[in-house]
Amino acid sequence: MTDRATALTRTLIDDLRARSADDAPWLDAVESLAHDVLTVEKADADFAAARVLERLAEPDRVIAFRVTWRDDVGAVQINRGWRVQQSNLLGPYKGGLRWHPDTTLPVLKSLAFEQVFKNALTGLPLGGAKGGADFDPRGRSAGEIERFARAFMAELAHHIGPDRDVPAGDMGVGGRELGLMSRAWMIHARAWGGALTGKPLCIGGSLLRAEATGYGLVFFLCAMLAAVGEEIEGKRIALSGRGNVALHAARKARALGGRVIALSARAGVWHAPDGFSHEALDWLAEATDDTAANPPARLGLTFHAGRKPWDLEPEIALPCATQNEIDAGDARALIDGGCCYLAEGANMPLTAEAEAVLKRAGIVLAPGKAANAGGVAVSGLEMRQNAGFAQWSAARVEQELREIICAIHDRVAEEGRSAGNGAPDYRKGANRAAYRCLAQAVIEGGAL
Ligand code: GLU
Repeated sequence: MTDRATALTRTLIDDLRARSADDAPWLDAVESLAHDVLTVEKADADFAAARVLERLAEPDRVIAFRVTWRDDVGAVQINRGWRVQQSNLLGPYKGGLRWHPDTTLPVLKSLAFEQVFKNALTGLPLGGAKGGADFDPRGRSAGEIERFARAFMAELAHHIGPDRDVPAGDMGVGGRELGLMSRAWMIHARAWGGALTGKPLCIGGSLLRAEATGYGLVFFLCAMLAAVGEEIEGKRIALSGRGNVALHAARKARALGGRVIALSARAGVWHAPDGFSHEALDWLAEATDDTAANPPARLGLTFHAGRKPWDLEPEIALPCATQNEIDAGDARALIDGGCCYLAEGANMPLTAEAEAVLKRAGIVLAPGKAANAGGVAVSGLEMRQNAGFAQWSAARVEQELREIICAIHDRVAEEGRSAGNGAPDYRKGANRAAYRCLAQAVIEGGAL
C-alpha cells in the first residue's frame, strides 16, 4: 500500500515539476533589452529617477487559473491558464493567447514584456500583455476545443474587456478559437463588444487580420531593402513554418516579385528551387500531416524530412515558426549560403549565440517587435472598427497597415542609425524607440 502511495505520489509530483520552469526566459528578455536602453535611461535624469526599465519589467499583475474540462471520452482534464497584464501605460492591455503544451508562466512573462515594446512601436494606443494555457489543441476534436475554450473563458472573462484587456490569437489559437471565446465573453458580459481581436469577420472581425502579420513582415522587409537601394524582386527567400504568418508572408513576398524557395514544419522542409507557385502555396496550406511529405510532382517541390530551410542558400531569411528556432549552426549555414537580410516573423526566433554570429557577419537583422508588429497593428484597427461599429474594406486595412509598418521602419531605422555606426542597428533602434515612448508615458503619469 505504501509503495503504491509512493509511486502514485511520485508520478503526480514528477508531472507537476516538469511543468514548473524557473524564471529564466523572462530574465533573458529583460537583460537583452536592458543592454540597449539603460544608457538612454541613465542619460536622462527624469527617466533614471523614475526607474523606468525596472518598473516596466514587472508585470502590473499576473492572473493564474485552473482550467478543468471533459474530453470526448468523459475524462476530466486539468490545465493551467494565465494572463500576464504587463503594462497599460499606452492603452488597454493587448497581446495574444497561446495554447501550447510548452507554455509556462516565465515564457509568457518574457513575451508580455516584449509585447509592451512592440505595441508601443505601432503608435496606436495599445498596452501589452500575453496569456494562454499549457493545453495542446493538436489532435483534439471540435467538441473538445469548444469545451476547453468555454472553460478557459469562464475564468479569463472576469479580467478582459474592450477598454481593459483585449487578447488575440497566438500559437494554437486562431479564428475559430477566438470566435468561441468571443461568444463566451459576450455571454458573460451580457454585452456585444470587441473584447478579443482576430475574431471571425461575421462577429466583428477585421478583413486582413489573418494576413496581417505575414503581410506586415514583407512590408517591413521591403522598407529595409529600399533603405539600402535594393528591392525584393527576384530575391531568394526562405521561410520557416507553414502556419498563418509564414504562408501569408510567402504569398505577399511572391506577389511582390520575390522567389520563395522554402517553407518548413517540425517534420522537415519543402524546397522549391525555382520558387513556390501560387498553386504550390495553396497545396501546402491544405496539406495534412499525412499528405505533406508527398507533394505532387507538377508543383516543383521536394520534401526533406528532418531538415531546416537555412542551408538552402537564401538571400533573405524570414523565421516564422517559434522562439529559439535558429541556433549558431543555422546562423553559420545562412552566412555560408550568402544570406544578407533576416527579418523575424516569429517572436524571438534567434538564440543569443545565433544573433551574435549573424551580427558579426554584418547580416541586417530586423527584430520581431518591429518586423512582426503587423498582427497587433491590425488588431488595433479591429478595435477601432469595433468601437466605431464599422467594417472597413480590405484595401483600407491594407493601406493603413502599410503606413503603420513604414512609420515603424522609419522610426526604428532613424534611432538605429544613431545607435550603430553607419548601417542601422534595427534591434537597438526598436528597443530605444519603444523605450523612449514608454518612458515619456511613465513620466507624464507620475509615480503610479
Ligand atoms: N500574438 C500576436 C503578436 O505576437 C498578436 C497580438 C495581438 O494582436 O494582440 O503580436
